[in-house]
Amino acid sequence: MDNFVQYAPTEVVFGKGTEKQAGSEVKKWGGSRVLIVYGGGSVIKSGVLDRVKRSLDEEDIVYDEIGGVKPNPRLALAEEGVKKAIEFQADFILGVGGGSVIDTAKGIAHGTANPTLDLWEIWTGKIPLTKSIPVGVVLTIAAAGSEMSDSAVLTNEEVGRKVGISTPFNRVKFAVMNPELAFTVPKKQIACGVTDIMMHTMERYFIPGFTCEMTDEIAEGLLRTVMRNGTKALENQEDYDVMAEIMWCSSLSHNDLTSCGRGKDFSVHKMGQALGAKYDITHGETLSVLWGSWARFQYDTAPDRFARYAVNVMGISSQGKSQMEIAKEGIEKTEEYFQSLGMPISLSELGIHPSDEEIHDLAMNATQQDTLKLSRLKPLSAAEVETIYKMA
Ligand code: NAP
Ligand code: FE
Repeated sequence: MDNFVQYAPTEVVFGKGTEKQAGSEVKKWGGSRVLIVYGGGSVIKSGVLDRVKRSLDEEDIVYDEIGGVKPNPRLALAEEGVKKAIEFQADFILGVGGGSVIDTAKGIAHGTANPTLDLWEIWTGKIPLTKSIPVGVVLTIAAAGSEMSDSAVLTNEEVGRKVGISTPFNRVKFAVMNPELAFTVPKKQIACGVTDIMMHTMERYFIPGFTCEMTDEIAEGLLRTVMRNGTKALENQEDYDVMAEIMWCSSLSHNDLTSCGRGKDFSVHKMGQALGAKYDITHGETLSVLWGSWARFQYDTAPDRFARYAVNVMGISSQGKSQMEIAKEGIEKTEEYFQSLGMPISLSELGIHPSDEEIHDLAMNATQQDTLKLSRLKPLSAAEVETIYKMA
């Protein structure tokens, strides 16, 4: 087993009606002046925002708000939020929504704590982040796992880049998770969420070598659970237990529990982020269109790993088959599962037909101008990443 550090300090408040505890949670974690962050209006329509505000009122906590966070959240809105938070003298940021809202809330917190620094320079690692202010979350969709992750992703439209930052300052203080709040999530977003949860687990699973039995068993169980319940949620998304399973999978897929003793590489995410920045497509779709090509390009470097996945997660029989055959079947069956959710498995299904030059630009973007070797299975250069985009 590889050495590892496990740090997942977020307090999880899970269950029915828990959004009413948002106020007492903020107070517990020391907040008294809160900037609430939300998205395009789903939380207004559902009444969640009102319930959260009422719970803040009950604790005599004052607040201001900023809405309008879009999927593939923009740096510009986070910067606007920083201004607002500083003017309001906010000491706590509360995100009410999904990954896009939470990542914006994290960005606002970092910018507010560092008013003299440029947020994009912090985001791209040019200036080290050494402090932030606390963030809490009321989650409304099971998908990104940002509620427990150490990362946050923003798109800078001016330079056309979607970039993630990983830092312990991205761990939020508390995450209120009421699966009932996700009953209104559009079906496409449920499917994208399930895909993202699977991918957070797989980006930690397809690492060379067999190094931690416990972690593998957790990852395989998580994948089976989210897939089974993902199918059920598309049939009836108001089944509390089904949505609860998916929501819990979302958090555990990205709080680094399944990295222990294995690590992670996030190569499909990096390639997907380049796509997301260029075409503004939903995060989950960027992953389902790329994963099959990514896997086919390199499964021969770790056929044992892909075969184990095929048998233990996808339920494929190994009898009379070579490892390579089993591995290939596992990849095919994964794509069939994505399709059963209505997810695309090729760029053309999204109406995207990039030119050779555009593919080159995408690959350079994903590999930071060919300085980053994506993937730990086979370290992928920009030229190899181009091939994967073409296969997709
Ligand atoms: P999202 O982008 O936050 O939200 C997607 C859509 O779902 C929005 O239109 C939102 O509408 C709607 N929605 C959310 N909750 C709803 C509800 N209860 N009822 C009805 N509609 C609802 O989705 P996400 O998948 O959670 O986040 C995606 C972002 O997270 C991407 O930018 C991705 O790159 C990033 N990400 C971050 C991490 C991380 O660890 N930080 C990991 C993976 C992905 P409203 O705007 O109206 O609320
Ligand atoms: Fe993701």
